[in-house]
Parts: sequence; structure tokens; C-alpha cells
Amino acid sequence: MRILLVAPPGAGKGTQGALIATHFGIPHIATGDLLRDHVARGTELGRAVKQHLDEGGLVPDEVVLEIVEHEIAKAKAAGLGYVLDGVPRNITQARTLYEAALELDMTADVALHLKVDDDEVVRRLLARAALEHRSDDTEEVIARRLAVYHEVTAPIVDWYAERGILVSVDAMRPVEEVGREVLAALEVLRPLVGVVPPGARRPIDLTGLGAAFGK
Ligand code: ADP
Repeated sequence: MRILLVAPPGAGKGTQGALIATHFGIPHIATGDLLRDHVARGTELGRAVKQHLDEGGLVPDEVVLEIVEHEIAKAKAAGLGYVLDGVPRNITQARTLYEAALELDMTADVALHLKVDDDEVVRRLLARAALEHRSDDTEEVIARRLAVYHEVTAPIVDWYAERGILVSVDAMRPVEEVGREVLAALEVLRPLVGVVPPGARRPIDLTGLGAAFGK
């Protein structure tokens, strides 16, 4: 399976991404982790991106895309799919990545949209800040990351809907519930994705499922 995650900060991309990767035996390519690793190791790239991360702004597209394209090529060489977490984050990244993946015959089968409202995002990130010490989990930087999400990332959801590969889930619920729903949806899609071309598919909206079946 080749899956990409689209979600605001704090929606659970990291947690669900790791779950999906373990379940399907595919690499979890998380751009935030890859960038933070460069910063921690003090590489040239790390020094170049540190300020963007600290301020909650986006790192230049070409920097992220080079890292991600390399990881996708590695996944292909290993005969595996992938779960992309944190990329694409704007429409330029979405289009460029699509072109690059097309050349490798590695375009995404599913764009998984984790829907969470802003208040919940802020609550979760501040709770995380008390446990981990990420430089960007302060109230001010969280607000900036959310603004960036609404301005440049959220619009790509429509692009995936048009391509027919969008699956939306309600990520306001406890992490285990979201995880079960995500894996169930992906398992249903698994035998179909190689057979039904994206253009012949329609977006899938599972956000009413939780409410329909009660808590
Ligand atoms: P979150 O989604 O909680 O903000 P991430 O770990 O995905 O956390 O990203 C942390 C930071 O890394 C972002 O605020 C941004 O500075 C940088 N970053 C990650 N992915 C990208 C990307 N695709 N394009 C540009 N910057 C990115």
C-alpha cells in the first residue's frame, strides 16, 4: 500500500503513521522526524532548516522534496509501499511529488485525511509539550503551525478528492478507535487499489461513522 497522510499538527499523523507502517510492513516516512534528526545531528541541512522548524514555518519545498523522493526511491528498490507523514504540505509539494512518484510508478493509492478541530489540536499539542520538549510546541508556535495548515495545507485535501484517492476519518476520537477505523478502511481498499484506477474512484468520507455507531 502507498498512503499519504494529510492532517493538522497534533491530529495523530505520527501515531497513526507508525501503526499503518507496522500493519502493512512499509516504511514510515515522516518529514518532521527526518528534519529534526538533521537538526539534532547538526548537519548542514539541519543548520539550514532549524529556524523554520523553531518558528513553525515551512522548510523550503526543494529541501523536503529531495529527502522524500530519495526515501520513496529506497522504498521502491526494496519492493515496498510507504506511508508519508508530513508531506505534501502545500499544493506545489503535492504536484511535484505526484510527478516524481509517477516516474517511479509509486504514486499514492490513498490520501488519508485525519480531521480534527483547532481547539483539540491546541489541547493535544500543549499536553505533548509537557511530556516531550519539542521546540515548536509552544502556544505561539502552535498558532503559527495551525495558520500555515489552514492557509496552504488544507487546500490540498480537495486536490486528492478530485483525484479520487481521498479517505476522511474523524480523528477527534481516542487514538485506538481512530487506529481501528483507519486500518479497517485501508484493509477494505487494499485489494481494490491496484485494480481500480484512481480516476474511476470517488472520495470516501467516514467521518460520520463514529457518531452513527455511538461512542
Ligand atoms: P506537525 O505536523 O505537528 O507540525 P511535523 O513533525 O510534521 O509536525 O513537522 C514539524 C515541522 O517540520 C513543520 O512545522 C515544518 O517546519 C517542518 N516540515 C515538516 N514537513 C514539511 C514539509 N513537507 N514541508 C515543509 N516543512 C516541513
